[in-house]
Amino acid sequence: MTKSIYGKLFIGFVLTIVISYVITGFFAVHQSHSDTKRIAVKDLQHSSSHIVDLVEQIDSSKRDKILKNYGEDSDLRFMIISEDYHFKTSNISRDVRFTDKEIASLKANVGKSIVHNAGTKTAYAKSYQINNTVYVVTIQKDSKTVQKVYLMSYTLSGIILFIAGSLVFLFVSDLIVRPISTLTKATNELSKGNYKVRVNYAGNDEIAQLYNSFNQMAVQLDKQEETRQQFISDVSHEFQTPLTAISGFANILKTENLPDDQRQKYAEIILSNANRLSKLSKNMLQLSLLEGEDIQLDMAPFNLIMQLNRVIETQDYSALSKDIEIEFIKPRGDIMVNGDEARMEQVWTNLINNAIKYTNEHGVITVEVKKSGGDVIVSVSDTGIGMSQETISHIFERFYRDDKSRAIEGNGLGLSIVARIIALHKFKIDVTSQLDVGTTFTVRMPMYSKRQRARFNTNGGKEE
Ligand code: ADP
Repeated sequence: MTKSIYGKLFIGFVLTIVISYVITGFFAVHQSHSDTKRIAVKDLQHSSSHIVDLVEQIDSSKRDKILKNYGEDSDLRFMIISEDYHFKTSNISRDVRFTDKEIASLKANVGKSIVHNAGTKTAYAKSYQINNTVYVVTIQKDSKTVQKVYLMSYTLSGIILFIAGSLVFLFVSDLIVRPISTLTKATNELSKGNYKVRVNYAGNDEIAQLYNSFNQMAVQLDKQEETRQQFISDVSHEFQTPLTAISGFANILKTENLPDDQRQKYAEIILSNANRLSKLSKNMLQLSLLEGEDIQLDMAPFNLIMQLNRVIETQDYSALSKDIEIEFIKPRGDIMVNGDEARMEQVWTNLINNAIKYTNEHGVITVEVKKSGGDVIVSVSDTGIGMSQETISHIFERFYRDDKSRAIEGNGLGLSIVARIIALHKFKIDVTSQLDVGTTFTVRMPMYSKRQRARFNTNGGKEE
């Protein structure tokens, strides 16, 4: 069993040629047989009447000689039978002879004719009346040569068809096999880790589509590889800074006779860096959970106003330490939202926490809840350092931190977590900002309507 695609295509090609050649040959030979027989009978009818003309017109003394010459020249085998005359050429074939009974019947019915076939041979007999005498002329013909010629030309055309077909096949199969070989090579390269490999193909057929998909896959893998490399470098960088601080200050702590207040200070620094590392690993874990394929949200309707109140309360302490005021503007009454309550709490915590972090002392933070159609919009605005357009375009990327914010504690994962939670809920988040003026984050989500709430209650607290 041949393994190469060329081999398989060639076997397919040979089978196609042979099968179609045999089927065509069968019908062609069948047709040619009946055609040659029909033509032979016509020829024999013609020759038979010619022989009768000779018998009628030629004087009986010369008749035999002329008939014999005619038989030899025309290569015809014939016999003339009558009451008083009998002639036959020497080469009459036994296979197609007429029986005495048939001859008698022909004699009895003038003008009657009989045809005999045996293989490639055809015989024709007819009775004529000339000057009150009944003659029976039997005549034979062998179409073997004609059929041989026909078979020869059919075989020859088969050979030519095969040779010409093979040449065309080589050309056509190359068109198919070559791109596949190129793709196989490229796939091998890819599997070795060369994600920069690309394939080129001019055209718009299935192979072009296959090449396109391959290139897209390679681009995707290349991007993923880049992201992975970037991630590793970011993570090690983020870990490195606190670790260096911890080991540096731990070394100093080993020094004897260190004044108490300094020991206290260094221990605090070590502790705060350890906290930073712990926060970083918690955030990374949370983000990797959120980015997992099988993440499930714990969806249920919850009271948004109560949730925001809770978050503001917990953040109030750090705001107060910077003399920052948090304003909460909300419509009257409760607003319900359907979502994962714990994860949405994380969103507000991160946004308000950032607003406090990136706002200088005595600033103001405004948390506002507005209804808009069937949606509810929550905005968190600050009067902080603001961001450039360039920074805005990167803030949802993992580990991204604006240069200006490097002095402020953080790890660049907070907004990535926010963006992921919002995307999982299919909510919307927007940001507008102006350098040194302030920033506003806006989250839009559908409100949980009264009707839905009523249905929820009758279902015993289960979301439909
Ligand atoms: P972190 O705050 O830990 O650095 P985030 O993912 O929460 O990480 O934020 C990413 C970056 O976006 C921050 O480093 C900062 O540059 C910018 N940023 C986020 N929120 C604000 C804000 N309210 N005002 C100004 N810049 C902000």
